[in-house]
Amino acid sequence: MTERAPLSRKISAIAESATLKVDAKAKALKAEGRPVISYAAGEPDFATPAGAVDAAREALENPANFRYSPAAGLADLKQAIVDKTRRDSGLEIAPNQVVVTNGGKQAVYQAFQVLLNPGEEVLLPAPYWTTYPEAIQLADGTPVAVFAGAEQEYKVTVEQLEAARTPRTKAVVFVSPSNPTGSVYTEEETAAIARWALEHGVWIVTDEIYQNLTYDGVRAVSVVEAVPEVAGQTILLNGVAKTYAMTGWRVGWMVGPADAMKMAANLQSHLTSNVNNIAQKAAVAALAGPQDDAEAFRQAFDRRRRTMVEELSKIDGVTVPVPQGAFYVYPDVSGLLGREWRGRRIETSLELADLILDEAEVAVVPGEAFGPSGYLRLSYALADDQLLEGVRRLQALFA
Ligand code: PMP
Repeated sequence: MTERAPLSRKISAIAESATLKVDAKAKALKAEGRPVISYAAGEPDFATPAGAVDAAREALENPANFRYSPAAGLADLKQAIVDKTRRDSGLEIAPNQVVVTNGGKQAVYQAFQVLLNPGEEVLLPAPYWTTYPEAIQLADGTPVAVFAGAEQEYKVTVEQLEAARTPRTKAVVFVSPSNPTGSVYTEEETAAIARWALEHGVWIVTDEIYQNLTYDGVRAVSVVEAVPEVAGQTILLNGVAKTYAMTGWRVGWMVGPADAMKMAANLQSHLTSNVNNIAQKAAVAALAGPQDDAEAFRQAFDRRRRTMVEELSKIDGVTVPVPQGAFYVYPDVSGLLGREWRGRRIETSLELADLILDEAEVAVVPGEAFGPSGYLRLSYALADDQLLEGVRRLQALFA
């Protein structure tokens, strides 16, 4: 008998999502009855706003929603996205420039499928969200990490991008506010990167899923608002998950030039068809309805952010840049490495995260999941009392 033929090389090269892995380990320990506090998942702990839930309930009464609908999205949701894009990204678009996707994740995947040919490079500012390198490689592209450390607030400069540019550079990823760092680029920094992309014909894939979660009076200005001419070579990604506590509903979208969006819709018509109609109707209500709940969520995140920065800063060896967006802090923990803690020699942030889970029963994601070692990501999208208890345990561990 001949050996069974091997599975796909491309898919077997994909790593399991590191953040989901840490979160799963934390949940398993919790299920065993251990009092684990998890800063691992990027998921708001609030209930979805009632307006969205009511719209979903109403949608269940209309049999039209039990049927297939257009792959690129329901007309009223596309219109709500047109209005939202004008409001928050300063860009006037037509409905045929929108494709509604099964969460922001599918928008990320489809953006690279639409843009890349084998061997083309995508400049990926690091630390980066773990899905990016995988989505680029699934489209046969090559991610080229461009690292920015804590001393530059984890924000890459045009000089760094230019140094990494080659004749194969097709696109640059721009995420502001950033997952995992919470950094927000200023309007000037954003405009400089947009002008550089325009000058060199490089596409921008800009992930704006955290654009409504900014603090200290800061606004995340979209690349297409900063430099309107770049819209012809920009794909904007977004979704309701983070702003409206709707992670489980799975509604995201992509916005871009009509020809690129037509290609994305064609791809999606073979991949998933339309997004669940009930969830789309809920998203219409979230986007077009009153924004009070979203604002209350933002204020709660802001309060938690300040607690996290203040308490983590009390630990010797930890440097905490103040994040101005999203719901993550990304401390530089290199001062804790190369030392012994609880009888264990700790060299990397991966080992540090393991120690923290074992000794303090606190789950954090190591920097290795997002780029170089030496950092931890802590999501502060969890209840205030848990949040404080967790950092107290870290203070005790590293006292
Ligand atoms: N982009 C970024 C930067 C994210 O952090 C996430 C969620 N972790 C997403 C996109 C995708 O979100 P979803 O698929 O839940 O809409």
